Amino acid sequence: MAQPRRITSLISLIPCLCMLTAPRDAALAQRPGPTQRPGWNSMSIAETDEIKVDASSIEVDFAEGRLDLPKAAVLAHIQAAASAVATYYGRFPVDRARVLVIPVAGRQGILQGTTWGGMRGFPGFTRIRIGEHTTPADLAEDWMTTHELVHMAFPSMPDDQHWIEEGLATYIEPIARVMTGNLTPQKIWGDMVRDMHQGEPEADDEGLDRTHTWGRTYWGGALFCLVADVQIRRETNNRKGLQDALRAIVAQGGTIDHDWDLPRALGIGDRATDTQVLTRMYAEWKDKPVTVDLPALWGELGIQSTPRGIEFIASAPDAKVREAITRSAGPPAVATVVPR
Ligand SMILES: [Zn+2]
Repeated sequence: MAQPRRITSLISLIPCLCMLTAPRDAALAQRPGPTQRPGWNSMSIAETDEIKVDASSIEVDFAEGRLDLPKAAVLAHIQAAASAVATYYGRFPVDRARVLVIPVAGRQGILQGTTWGGMRGFPGFTRIRIGEHTTPADLAEDWMTTHELVHMAFPSMPDDQHWIEEGLATYIEPIARVMTGNLTPQKIWGDMVRDMHQGEPEADDEGLDRTHTWGRTYWGGALFCLVADVQIRRETNNRKGLQDALRAIVAQGGTIDHDWDLPRALGIGDRATDTQVLTRMYAEWKDKPVTVDLPALWGELGIQSTPRGIEFIASAPDAKVREAITRSAGPPAVATVVPR
């Protein structure tokens, strides 16, 4: 019987502290294992709520434990994350999901998120550890909740392709939050200019399938997604993007509760955009170091770093591509807390 799959985000990307310190590679070793259970049975639940996003239902369980924040504030935060993910994908990726919120005594902030596929009747299950003394400001700057829910929108991969799961979550999370007005384009492009270089290959790199470092897994994966998004838009005269590929993968059942190989997912994505970008890039990037000229890419996208922050250059050759990446096709998806 297949072990439930888990995706771990032990590594804090924001705030910047962890970005600036040495990667904690130990986190990458935490793949599915018989000793790592989500604590399903032992956890005493203090409150259960439900969030509806169209036809999808998200059960939110709060484990026993003190929180300075009202539970309603945490629930609203999960609601916003669910809306962002549903807005990007055009629907919430799975019909039923469970989010287990575990308060951690004496700590502050969103501490850890982990997502499994196919747990006890829930196609998606996310466990979030949140410090007792977490503040509204901590919630406002939290990326992890959205990141975890993005994981539900891609099939589970073999270990060597873990980078695409983390890369997608790292790349999509901020874009989805721009689409719901939660972040500004200036903010997320500025963060990408600051952080994306961490995904470039270092010496001895053997490609994304064979180099399982922190930088290549999270940011190498995100770099693959960024370059693919831009390239699909260039080849389709900006009519299609990575979003179209990812929506098609979800529509054909490619969610976290299904084990697929990567070529199958990428093939569906390519057919949806009528390009070969994903398959071609994967062939190039999987076993060789591919370096991206990021300064040139930012210039083409019309992203300029100035002492006043990020400025956009409307006359840049791919300015329209940059604008399309964060543009929502419609109003934000409505996520509703069901009254109890
Ligand atoms: Zn993750």
